[in-house]
Amino acid sequence: MKQFWLFNRTWETSLKKRYIMAYKIDPSACVNCGTCEPDCPVGAISENDGHREIDSSKCVSCGTCASVCPATAISEE
Ligand code: SF4
Ligand code: SF4
Repeated sequence: MKQFWLFNRTWETSLKKRYIMAYKIDPSACVNCGTCEPDCPVGAISENDGHREIDSSKCVSCGTCASVCPATAISEE
């Protein structure tokens, strides 16, 4: 049963990497307004060193952050 769980997790991670690309924030374009952070449904956005960044392991690629960013600093990887 444990082996099946491990296989399933590996398969899920592989699929996510292959088909669901995370979004990323261009730090040079981000004006750190904070608009995107509360709109992320999975809490993947946080502040770091004067700009926001996305935790790619949490991002589910919904695109909400990119649609609300006034600086168009967010795009798909
Ligand atoms: S694309 Fe969606 S899940 Fe990913 S960081 Fe933006 S709002 Fe969050
Ligand atoms: S909405 Fe855009 S400019 Fe504002 S913090 Fe997020 S990435 Fe930066």
